[in-house]
Amino acid sequence: MADKPSTVYLDNNATTELSHDVAQVVTDMILHNIYGNPSSAHAAGVKVKTIIDAARYGVAQSLGCSSEEIVFTSGGTEANNLAIRGTFAPSSTLPSDVVMSAGEHASVRNTVAALAGPDKVRLIPLLLDGSLDMETAERIITDDVALVSVMLANNVTGNIYPIKEIIRLAHNHGALVHCDAVQAYGKIPLDVHELGVDLLSISGHKVHALPGIGALFVRKGIRLHPMVTGGPQESAMRAGTENYIGIASLATVANDITRRKGNMEPGFRDVFETGILKRIPNVTVNGKDSLRIPNTSSVTFEGIHSTAMLTALAEQGVFASAGSACSTGSSKPSRTLISMGLSEQTALSTVRFSFSNISKLMDVAVAIEACVKCASTLRQGAESGEM
Ligand code: PLP
Repeated sequence: MADKPSTVYLDNNATTELSHDVAQVVTDMILHNIYGNPSSAHAAGVKVKTIIDAARYGVAQSLGCSSEEIVFTSGGTEANNLAIRGTFAPSSTLPSDVVMSAGEHASVRNTVAALAGPDKVRLIPLLLDGSLDMETAERIITDDVALVSVMLANNVTGNIYPIKEIIRLAHNHGALVHCDAVQAYGKIPLDVHELGVDLLSISGHKVHALPGIGALFVRKGIRLHPMVTGGPQESAMRAGTENYIGIASLATVANDITRRKGNMEPGFRDVFETGILKRIPNVTVNGKDSLRIPNTSSVTFEGIHSTAMLTALAEQGVFASAGSACSTGSSKPSRTLISMGLSEQTALSTVRFSFSNISKLMDVAVAIEACVKCASTLRQGAESGEM
C-alpha cells in the first residue's frame, strides 16, 4: 500500500488537532467508563461533579478569575450569543445602542444584527494596517451605548485590538464590554481582571481541546438572562446537563496555557513570512506592522485567486484557508480585509495560514516550498492564458 502523503495543516484558526494530553484524558474517561449526572447526589454524580469543579478551577486560573465566574457553553459561538443575548433578553429589541468592531466574527456580528436594527449598531472601522480606528471608537462610544463587543484578536489577520483602551472608553460611559477572545486565548497572556473586561468568550477546539465546548467569563455581579432555559446548571445562566468530557478536555489545555503564561512561540509564523517574502515576488502580509497574535499570517498573492492557490496548495498537501472557515465555500471576500480598505480583488487573492504550538519547523519549510511552487505555476499559467 502506498504511503499516505503527509499533510501540513496550517488552518489552526479554523480548528486544531487534539493535543496528546487531551486525547489521553478523553480516552481515559471513555475507557474507564466515567459517567454520571453531576446534579445527582450518588457517587457517580459526585465523581463527575468533582471533575467539573476541578476543570472550572483550571479554566478560571488560565483566565485569572474565580471558578464562579466561568460558564461552560457549547463553544465560542454560544459564548458570544450568551454574552450578547444574555445582556439584553428577554426583550427582543435592544434598549440601547451596541458598538462592535468591523472585524467581528459572524457569531457576534449576526447576533448583534439579529437583536438590533441597523440604526442601533455602531461600527468601529479597521485601518489599512489592520488596527482599530480608535479615533472613531472614542467618538461613537457614548452614554447611549449599552454594550461594546470587540474581539481581542482578529481571526483573519491575527491583529490584536486595544481592548483595555476600549474598556476604559466604554466604562467611562457606563457600557458593558464583551470580548471575543477565541483567537487570542492560548496565544497571548490573558487576565480578565487585569483587563477589566465584563464578559469574555473562549472556545476549546481552537486550542487543541474537543469541539463543542467553550466558556464565557462573566464578571462577578453580572447576571445574564439564560438563552437555554431549564435546570439551574452553570449558575442558572446555561441550563442542561454538562458536557463533562468536553469540559475536562478544555481544562487539560487550560492547565497547559496557565503553565506557559498564555504565551505561544512566534517563531514559525516569522520564519514562514520571511521565507515567502524573500522568495515570492508581489506578496503582502496583511496587518504585519500592527500588533498580532503569533500564529496568523494573512498573505496576499497578487494576481492569484485564493481558490486557485488553496487548491494548488492542497495538492501539495498544505491546508490553509481563504479567510475564516465560516466564509469558506463562498467566494465573498473577507469582511475584515475589505474593512481594512483592501480592494475586492486583493482580498480575494488572500490566503490565511495559521500555525499552532503543535506545528513543526519542518511544516514551515514544506509550506514555503509549496507556496513558491504554486505561486510560480499559477502566475505562469495566467500569463500563458491557460487558467
Ligand atoms: N469567534 C472567533 C473570533 C472565531 O474565530 C470563531 C471560530 O471560527 C468563533 C468565535 C466561533 O467559535 P466556535 O467554533 O467554538 O463556535
